[in-house]
Amino acid sequence: MTELGSLFLIVFALYIVQCVCWVNPDSVVFALGLRDRGKKKSRGLTLSGLDTAAFLANPLPPLSPLLVTHWPAFQLNPDSVLISGPNGEATSITWETLVVTRSGSRLLFNGTSVFKGDETQVLGYCQLLQQLRQATRPQRERAIEKWLREGLDSKASARRLQVFQRRSLWIRIVSNLQFFFLFFLLPFAIGIYPRMLRPAIILVVATSVILAIEFWSVHRKLYKKTADTRFTATFTIALSPLAAIRTCDTLCRNLVAGYHPVAVAAAICTDAAFEAIAGEQLRYAKFTSASDWYQKKLVGLIEQVIRQRGLEPRRLLTPSSQMSGCILYCPRCLTQYVTNREECSDCGHKALVAFTSSGTGTSFSP
Ligand SMILES: [Zn+2]
Repeated sequence: MTELGSLFLIVFALYIVQCVCWVNPDSVVFALGLRDRGKKKSRGLTLSGLDTAAFLANPLPPLSPLLVTHWPAFQLNPDSVLISGPNGEATSITWETLVVTRSGSRLLFNGTSVFKGDETQVLGYCQLLQQLRQATRPQRERAIEKWLREGLDSKASARRLQVFQRRSLWIRIVSNLQFFFLFFLLPFAIGIYPRMLRPAIILVVATSVILAIEFWSVHRKLYKKTADTRFTATFTIALSPLAAIRTCDTLCRNLVAGYHPVAVAAAICTDAAFEAIAGEQLRYAKFTSASDWYQKKLVGLIEQVIRQRGLEPRRLLTPSSQMSGCILYCPRCLTQYVTNREECSDCGHKALVAFTSSGTGTSFSP
């Protein structure tokens, strides 16, 4: 291979690394396409030891950015908060004994890590929890209901995405041009037409600077409270043409981080994709051990979003068809089984449901 070919491969490998989005393994990640449409990314590469997962954004134009949503596993109710212990056991902490702290991207309840994610999201939860601690019980109940309603507000998440699409138009155009300059124009100038090398380098540097300036302006509108992150990201974009190509990723990634995945799916997904995500999230909320109050509220709001899309929530709770020879299914993940068993081997849910002769489940525990 020629020196130019080797150099090109090294730069492209570095660019691919730039396209990787590292998230909490519990996150739901969407690829945002054109015209406010998007689709859920299939499961990323999970690194359990590091408590992280890797999702690869499409490296080629039109450079679709990724959207990350991460709904917290802790459950708030007017009397206490419920968290999962290290072995999955539920632990209840009363508001009077709750101590909320944060460490970078981690939120801690009485010293136990309960959420790891976007810094703005962690800061928002910290402020909410401090307010809830000081509130009276009726005030707390109303505030938690409001927080849940806002998290499931698909119209609000759609509006935020529309603002992003509108304001990031130039960034999307210029970052695609930067991809062309870096991977086609520069190699052409280096290998075939050296007289073009100087103008090509000037073009790449100027484009990076333009993207950094535009990024600063749009980021300030979308993320008012994260000045430090904005400062660091702007310099990275200005100094690295590879980072400049992925400017939209940095802007888009945490755009709807505080919204429930069902609200985001309702805003950007096709009917079929929405049905799949909504069913998955509804079953998870309904068949995961939870405080009754929180579960009832969350499930009710998810069902409301599902109905707004013209679907009947109950239809999403059973498998669409019974596979040959199967007699049981898991109501949480819909895995089907040919023999009797105590718990689901996929998700660990214990109350499996028998198929009736008509091919649907008999009953399930709400
Ligand atoms: Zn299961």
